[in-house]
Amino acid sequence: MAIVVQKYGGSSVADAIKIKNVAQRIADTRNKGDSVVAVVSAMGDTTDELLELAYQVNKHPSERELDVLLSTGEIVSSTLLAMALKTMGYEAISLSGAQAGIRTDAAFSRARILQVDSKRVVKELDKGNIVIVAGFQGITEDMDITTLGRGGSDTTAVALAISLGAKVCQIYTDVDGVYTADPRLVPDAQKLVEIGYEEMLELASYGAKVMHPRAVELGELFNLPILVASSFNNSSGTLIHGGTSMEVRNKVKSIAYNLDIAKITVVGVPDSPGIATAIFQPLAAAGISVDTIVQNASINNITDLTFTVAKSQLTKAMHLVESIAKSIGARECVSAANLGEVSVVGTGMQNTPGYAAKMFSTLSKQGINIQLITTSEVRITCIIDETKVKDAVRALHLAFELELE
Ligand code: ADP
Ligand code: ASP
Ligand code: MG
Repeated sequence: MAIVVQKYGGSSVADAIKIKNVAQRIADTRNKGDSVVAVVSAMGDTTDELLELAYQVNKHPSERELDVLLSTGEIVSSTLLAMALKTMGYEAISLSGAQAGIRTDAAFSRARILQVDSKRVVKELDKGNIVIVAGFQGITEDMDITTLGRGGSDTTAVALAISLGAKVCQIYTDVDGVYTADPRLVPDAQKLVEIGYEEMLELASYGAKVMHPRAVELGELFNLPILVASSFNNSSGTLIHGGTSMEVRNKVKSIAYNLDIAKITVVGVPDSPGIATAIFQPLAAAGISVDTIVQNASINNITDLTFTVAKSQLTKAMHLVESIAKSIGARECVSAANLGEVSVVGTGMQNTPGYAAKMFSTLSKQGINIQLITTSEVRITCIIDETKVKDAVRALHLAFELELE
């Protein structure tokens, strides 16, 4: 009897009828004779609603309390799903992240899984139970509840699949796979049959929220294939894997976008050793994650340093950077919160000239000004005005002929 690990996202369990639908899909898998572990997200927009409630009672809620609060969303969906399975005549038990042995570090709201102690899950499977695990959460050594970052239930599922020795982790969501662009934005987007870990990680990290980046990272580390498919139909999904049989095409694979970009520029920075550390170390210590960093060529030993953060972290980051700027003798700090980014991704671009030029000319034809550019071996990202991002995605999808995928 194989162990099948499935994950159902928030929109797949948004109401009682959808929970019953998911219960039926789990039951169908069980009926094939497999042991089933199902990881669930909170119902619909529960996590956003809980966050909003927290900020209504306290403008600066404690991170510890916030994590306990948010973890309850997944407790609700997991218990309801177990109840639904029981009325259908199946043996089922729900487990919180802590009960399922998800041990994390103590970085509240972005905790990393240190270890999965799957003893309890295995014990329940051995008893014949279908095990429903509350996603997105874990527990520290000090028994504090943590959450893994928004979208983190994918990571719970992949970590459990690895620890239980499953052959694949099945991620069921509200689209039937990974597309050449967000299908809600680009109607012509095509479903990919397969995609490599490296490309998927770039897409997820640069805004394609169909997968949590850390879930992809874990899958790659342990070479666990991940299937992304629909929880509403049975069409074949997209397999994320590292197989060598994959065709490397001289082509862009998919386009991602992210509207959550703010920019800070420290103007007139003395160009001397230790300056970058003086700025970025305190930001890291405050848990602010910095993405793109660009330093201008210096003139007379004075330079400008620009970097991006999530919009929600701009106020906190500006506060820190303003005091650092004073201490290092920089002239001023300026910020902009109206940005977004668009990325083209594909291993086919590696060592092939012309992709960057095509991206820039496409944006220019749309009258879109590029503010910052970053690249990796398999990605080109342009930071632009947030109001232009969606047009940029559609224009790039057309320019790279992804509708013909
Ligand atoms: P879940 O609640 O199941 O975790 P998410 O909302 O986190 O689902 O992720 C699914 C969503 O990801 C889709 O509804 C789609 O709008 C979005 N998405 C963004 N980029 C892509 C892409 N390239 N392929 C498929 N879906 C994408
Ligand atoms: N419920 C959490 C969120 O909305 C985790 C998840 O859905 O994966 O981010
Ligand atoms: Mg998700």
